[in-house]
Amino acid sequence: MARIDLNHIRHAYVPNPKSDKDYALKEVHHSWEDGGAYALLGPSGCGKTTLLNIISGLLHPSHGQLLFDGEDVTNLSTQERNIAQVFQFPVIYDTMTVYDNLAFPLRNRGVPAAEVDRKVKETLEMIDLASWANKKARGLTADQKQKISLGRGLVRSDVNAILFDEPLTVIDPHMKWVLRSQLKVLHQRFGYTMVYVTHDQTEALTFAQKVVVMYDGEIVQIGTPEELFERPKHTFVGYFIGSPGMNVMPVEIESGAARIGEHQIQLPSPAAPIGGKVELGIRPEYVRLGRLGMPVQIAKVEDIGRHKIVRTRLGTQEIAVIVGEGQEIPAEPHIAFDPKGINIYADSWRVGGN
Ligand code: ADP
Ligand code: MG
Repeated sequence: MARIDLNHIRHAYVPNPKSDKDYALKEVHHSWEDGGAYALLGPSGCGKTTLLNIISGLLHPSHGQLLFDGEDVTNLSTQERNIAQVFQFPVIYDTMTVYDNLAFPLRNRGVPAAEVDRKVKETLEMIDLASWANKKARGLTADQKQKISLGRGLVRSDVNAILFDEPLTVIDPHMKWVLRSQLKVLHQRFGYTMVYVTHDQTEALTFAQKVVVMYDGEIVQIGTPEELFERPKHTFVGYFIGSPGMNVMPVEIESGAARIGEHQIQLPSPAAPIGGKVELGIRPEYVRLGRLGMPVQIAKVEDIGRHKIVRTRLGTQEIAVIVGEGQEIPAEPHIAFDPKGINIYADSWRVGGN
């Protein structure tokens, strides 16, 4: 396993010397620690696959350098980089048995037969395909084929890193949950460097030690799931992570308090040093609905099992609140903000100074 350094990586599929707009990756400068479990999270089209393919060597970046344990591998092939990659759709040999599909990458590298057998059997257990070992891959379901694909990535423990590109997309929800926790156990046991691409926050937050949030070709925040939840650096992160996402509203800062309409909101101490027009972000979990605070109207109530999402309206501003089981909505509803859930943004949802 290796530490991976991405040095000022940029990539344009169609180079345009006059404009930066065409960069699928604008600037990625970051290190993945040896043995780390990273999730690359972001909406479709933000550049996750592009970045992953640059790490694996399927794609050569337009600018920048890639280092594995300090060694420049920018110009090496995928094979030379010694990387395992699992794609969104299964890549397997249809005419081979399930067993041989897993054994192939090991035999290819000259691993002794006894070890091949041990590793393959162990991996088949893990992905719950042991009883299918001697079946031809051709006859299997899409689900099972994708598990083989996953197994082919996991069977090799000598690689510098294992890269996953939305590998559970075609897997049914229950199995998805099982495999996700398997991956976590595996990471803890073998200390693989893992980079896991997904657009699904649940997947990212359960799998990763560090979540790398991407937006429009850039990394906007890297943090633990808790950091991303409590202290999103950009309103985009607050919006994208959480369900529903963070409430964001324009406010004016005056002597340590935020003003919204005629209301004053107490800020956490020390008070935000910025003045003037900014944006206040607060997650629905930190808004209280009761008889005290700012009077609101109820726009909508959504039942989500144990909780309700109550969409309130304060003037023209919609503010979502999470309300626990059995909690009544008062006849004259008011909301109050828990100061510890308040984040202030001087520069919101604009990434890279646009
Ligand atoms: P993600 O994996 O996050 O969905 P991608 O890395 O696939 O995003 O794509 C990032 C951007 O690059 C998108 O705007 C996409 O349209 C563009 N793109 C991806 N692949 C190609 C390609 N082969 N040729 C041209 N543009 C591409
Ligand atoms: Mg992709």
